[in-house]
Amino acid sequence: EFLSNKIAAGEVVERPASVVKELVENAIDANSSNVRIDIEEGGLSSIRILDDGDGIEEDDLETAFYRHATSKIKYDQDLFRIKTLGFRGEALPSIASVSKLSLKTSTGGREGHELYLEGGHIKHRKTVSPRKGTEITVTELFYNTPARLKYLKTIHTELGHISDVVNRMALSHPEISFVLTHNRKTMLQTTGNGDLPRVIASIYGSTIAKKMVKIETETMDFKVEGYLAKPEVTRSNRSYMSTVLNGRYVKNYPLLRAIQEGYHTLLPIGKFPLVVLHITLNPILIDVNVHPSKLEVRISKEHALQELITSTIRDVFKRIQL
Ligand code: ADP
Ligand code: MG
Repeated sequence: EFLSNKIAAGEVVERPASVVKELVENAIDANSSNVRIDIEEGGLSSIRILDDGDGIEEDDLETAFYRHATSKIKYDQDLFRIKTLGFRGEALPSIASVSKLSLKTSTGGREGHELYLEGGHIKHRKTVSPRKGTEITVTELFYNTPARLKYLKTIHTELGHISDVVNRMALSHPEISFVLTHNRKTMLQTTGNGDLPRVIASIYGSTIAKKMVKIETETMDFKVEGYLAKPEVTRSNRSYMSTVLNGRYVKNYPLLRAIQEGYHTLLPIGKFPLVVLHITLNPILIDVNVHPSKLEVRISKEHALQELITSTIRDVFKRIQL
């Protein structure tokens, strides 16, 4: 059990940013409105995630650290219409197995509970004051896996990866307020009032946010809405094209190609646009079970979606006549 958690950790927990991703996803799945992420030294010394979500019931506390214990799938067929971000029940046991982890949680009842684990072993458990939600602190990540520890890059690089993860979460969920601090300095703060352009402004700056055009289109199968930077805003890599499928930030090259195709002759060769697209579709059309990190997905009716995206982008820029 402990060994298999450590093996799974190799897949799920590559670096501090993977811990942040998994824990923030859990906070989102728990219906949080506010998620706070406090990082020390690029996550190498401490990662703390505080949410105001549903919390974990006392009886489920220890089970959450068993492998494949997920509260999110009740029936086999649920696998085919996954709405929540997590579903494998792998993250908590994996992270716990390679760190020192404290979890405080309360469902809003009369008491809260704290569990402390080292290397996946429960060291102590106690009753704490009830604050609805969950607070997870991960310290000394990879302290018991020296090979992993050696592979980590500088604080600056690890922080960059964490920042990318949190930015993506914020772009995917404008209805949730995110705060990211590093060594007590605020790196990102979003309001959670649902205003995507404002999130875009917090991340990319207000000058760029002012140069965004709104799009919104819908077919029987897909709804596509979001913001396109005018072609004068160019970027030299693909990472400024954000695609969000049913609230899940994804990497899907066919979708990125469709976006680029929409800008086609408007951008110089080798330049890429800045775009945030939220795509809503029947979950039955998505297969997320491609990789443990769940970033890559396959989409049925992919061609129809590509054409919809490309033609919508072309039409918008034709209409506003640049
Ligand atoms: P998964 O997200 O795939 O279900 P995890 O290992 O990430 O698996 O989490 C295990 C379980 O712990 C979840 O199914 C959920 O019930 C509970 N849990 C984890 N984090 C939180 C949180 N922040 N708030 C409420 N419940 C949580
Ligand atoms: Mg999870």
